[in-house]
Amino acid sequence: MAPKNSDSETMLARARKVIPNGASSGGRALFSDVIVRTKGAHVWNADDKKFIDYLLAYGPIVLGHCDPRVNEAVAHASASCDLNWVGPQKGEIQLAEAVCEVMPSADKVAFCTSGTDATLHAVHLARAATGRRRLLKFHGSYHGWHDLLAVGSRFTVGKGRKGGLAEPNSAGLHPEAVADVTVIEWNDFDGVREAFQNHGKEFAACFAEPYVHSYGCVAPEPGFLELLRELSSQHNVVLVFDEVKTGFRHHIGGYQAVCGVTPDLTAFGKAIGNGYSVAGIAGTTAIMDLLGSASETNATIEGTYNAAPYAMAAGITTLGILRDNGIERLYDLGDRLRAGLQQAVDTAGIQACVTGYGSEWAIYFCDRAPRNYREVLASNTELAESWRRGMYEAGILEPPFALTDRRLCLATSEDDIDQTIEAAGQVLANIR
Ligand code: PMP
Repeated sequence: MAPKNSDSETMLARARKVIPNGASSGGRALFSDVIVRTKGAHVWNADDKKFIDYLLAYGPIVLGHCDPRVNEAVAHASASCDLNWVGPQKGEIQLAEAVCEVMPSADKVAFCTSGTDATLHAVHLARAATGRRRLLKFHGSYHGWHDLLAVGSRFTVGKGRKGGLAEPNSAGLHPEAVADVTVIEWNDFDGVREAFQNHGKEFAACFAEPYVHSYGCVAPEPGFLELLRELSSQHNVVLVFDEVKTGFRHHIGGYQAVCGVTPDLTAFGKAIGNGYSVAGIAGTTAIMDLLGSASETNATIEGTYNAAPYAMAAGITTLGILRDNGIERLYDLGDRLRAGLQQAVDTAGIQACVTGYGSEWAIYFCDRAPRNYREVLASNTELAESWRRGMYEAGILEPPFALTDRRLCLATSEDDIDQTIEAAGQVLANIR
């Protein structure tokens, strides 16, 4: 909590007067801080409290805050040839070539500005390609906030779900859009088979985060992604991997390059731009060529800011750094952090498991790593919240939802990690 009469508190009061809920992205309003300075792996609030940042803007910051190499490339693009609306942008061609080179599913790429945008276009494309409407997605997986997929993934801790899994995430969503979505539990092999058996001919697309980060870090069980691939192909359903969080972080080619399962379409965003708004869709030529010229059979992509030169410059520079041993370093740091946290858990003798992959990590207060959202919600959410609050007091910034994923960046140092592990030991001893 920000101290009373603090600078953060004053700014928050001003914000609440002029911005609904006090911040322009709902979950941000759950913080009692205003961040006024960021550098590397650290952020400072308006009262000059320093945090080690494991929120990292919910994923985009993969190199570190205010990375000078990215900022220099952005400044150069902005100073030499900024936003225009004529043909492909120079950087757009270069970044598209770079993505096609590394991402298995990418014959072609189109850029937009957010993950929400990317998954929306993926739905349009899948529907144009198949002439069908229904979508399949997994419980708890968040694919952005548009009517078509904001279903079955409300992730506020403790908010129960009264209906089935396919509840709309909020008021205001189109009921018919929601009705077009089938939601099943992640890693539910029989559920997937049954869904395809019942609706295989109606599905336009199957949307999956190939490694789930919407509610922490939940790996696909062996064979699960292969099953999605097999059934999607069998039923002519477009398999879409939402790599908005996994893309360029777990592997330069996305998690698809790790698991060896290639989707038809990929939505990506976040880490590609180290904080600048760049996202996109990649896929097979046959499907991607349905994009770009609206007609009765084709979808399209439009956007004033799509492939903005500064965003392309950020993407090209970030990818270059990640390719240059960046990912390996992220893995080493992630392994060190997870091992230390698990040791802190064991020493405290508390029932919790640390999970994760590469630079991503999560902690669940239960006796074994959850395999789906239902099991995550059944874990001890009160302890998870106490952990989050304790870590916050110790100067460790995590997402506002205690059950979601945390991550580190290339600027996170071994010292930061050791401090985090020490803080975790104390927090766990206190909440035990
Ligand atoms: N897909 C996934 C898996 C995400 O985690 C997110 C955002 N957290 C989105 C899509 C939406 O991305 P954006 O916030 O850039 O619209």
